[in-house]
Amino acid sequence: MPTLTAKKSKRPPVRASGRAAPALIFGDLWEFDPAPETADPKLKARYELFIDGQFVAPASGNYFDTVNPATEQKIAEMALGGAADVDAAYRAADKAQKTVWGKLPGRERAKYLYRIARLLQDRAREFAIAETMDNGKPIKETRDFDVPMAAAHFFYHAGWADKLEYIAPGRRVAPLGVVGQVIPWNFPLLMMAWKIAPAIAMGNCVVIKPATNTPLNAIKLAEIFQDAGLPPGVVNVITGPGSTGGLIMAHPTAAKIAFTGSTEVGKVILRSVAGSDKKMTMELGGKAANIVFDDAPLDQAVEGIVNGIFFNQGQVCCAGSRLLVQESVAERVVAKLKNRLRALRVGNPLDKNTDVGAIVSRGQLDSIRSYLDIGVKEGAELWQPPCRLPAKGFYMPPTIFTGVSQSHRIAREEIFGPVLAIIPFRTVEEAIEKANNTPYGLSAGVWTDKGSRILKMSTELKAGVVWANTFNQFDPTSPFGGYKESGFGREGGRQGLLDYCKLV
Ligand code: NAD
Repeated sequence: MPTLTAKKSKRPPVRASGRAAPALIFGDLWEFDPAPETADPKLKARYELFIDGQFVAPASGNYFDTVNPATEQKIAEMALGGAADVDAAYRAADKAQKTVWGKLPGRERAKYLYRIARLLQDRAREFAIAETMDNGKPIKETRDFDVPMAAAHFFYHAGWADKLEYIAPGRRVAPLGVVGQVIPWNFPLLMMAWKIAPAIAMGNCVVIKPATNTPLNAIKLAEIFQDAGLPPGVVNVITGPGSTGGLIMAHPTAAKIAFTGSTEVGKVILRSVAGSDKKMTMELGGKAANIVFDDAPLDQAVEGIVNGIFFNQGQVCCAGSRLLVQESVAERVVAKLKNRLRALRVGNPLDKNTDVGAIVSRGQLDSIRSYLDIGVKEGAELWQPPCRLPAKGFYMPPTIFTGVSQSHRIAREEIFGPVLAIIPFRTVEEAIEKANNTPYGLSAGVWTDKGSRILKMSTELKAGVVWANTFNQFDPTSPFGGYKESGFGREGGRQGLLDYCKLV
């Protein structure tokens, strides 16, 4: 029986300095083995909606295909939820919240969250493969990041469920009621966990829609909810198109809506619910600056740059898509970066040695390609390492642009792909000014040896998260969210829970 056993190399690579290299997301820690992963992800030909604890056919009787972006082959048929299904889901959620879930003591709710986390761990291999097939991201990311982090979010929030009095000492904490949630395709399973775990830990019930492109693990997670014995109606999963998301966001039963996706759609939703008293969280786009000073450990910084923009093919809201590099080391950093990119393996995401997998859809690939044309027309210089892409599937080699100015669209707009715009700077003030010169404010990275500079930068950068000498580090205990057009509200940590309750 083929299995998903990643053979970790016995020891991490040793550098010339004699010190072991830090653990990296890409490449180095894995022995080369060209055999793709083939463990059985236990897929069905057709998936239904999950409403009131049952898998049910959509009222319209319509289904849509979910497709593997690495092969362009259909994976399964998914139920296309519409207005009647959304209504049924809200009715079930409302009833569950008022009669069962909202009345359970926190310690009882916690047991369900712990159970969900453990069941997800038990099926981790299966979920990792399904996620890679549905999204195109490399198996080593789904196996080592997406699935374990999703389980970690349920564990973490289970721990809070019976300690809610510590969220806001001196205040009584009450659930909001029913929460409507819509999520994107870049971290399909993890976004489910980010949204559902805090909501139900607080005693709310949920109606959630995954992205149209990546519905598979959302509905597979509903199997876990059923297996965990979660009371019917506590979580309802409606698969379908963006218009179904609009119905979920605008539904009168929703006491709160939580949206993660593009700034463009976020604005449409905000307009549609303006004037209602719904509580809201918006997690939107980003155009993060990853800032490298000349005193930074450059080899480490190069790994951070690679991780910052090529993790998940750059389809990450907080991706370090703008590299601000101090002029005195810019040439060296670019040379080292090019060298590193030549070693990245682009291709079959189910191969555990793959560093850069497939782009989620043809539409997204076309959009990324259009930015390559825009960048070249604007006068920037494009560079890609030589690599052979598979004949089928949606692939894009890692791409860097030099000669980029701040006014270029590739430096201003969210490309959401493996494309890095490199911009030099001279002084700390110039770095801060350039980093903040964006409508977004989700994340930033700072690479320097000086602690005082890290403190100054993290105070002055207008970003929800500032990483110092690292990038793309996540933890359920740590609140995540944006400023400006990157949205409002926080997810994770104590702050994230405050967005799912009322204080009375
Ligand atoms: P998207 O905005 O196109 O879609 C997100 C979700 O909204 C999908 O489920 C989609 O079906 C649904 N949707 C589409 N139109 C809708 C409407 N009118 N009303 C309600 N729902 C609607 O985004 P995407 O392409 O799936 O994801 C990429 C975007 O998500 C990027 O901009 C990225 O930065 C952002 N993102 C942000 C965060 C964060 O935490 N800030 C995290 C991940 C992704």
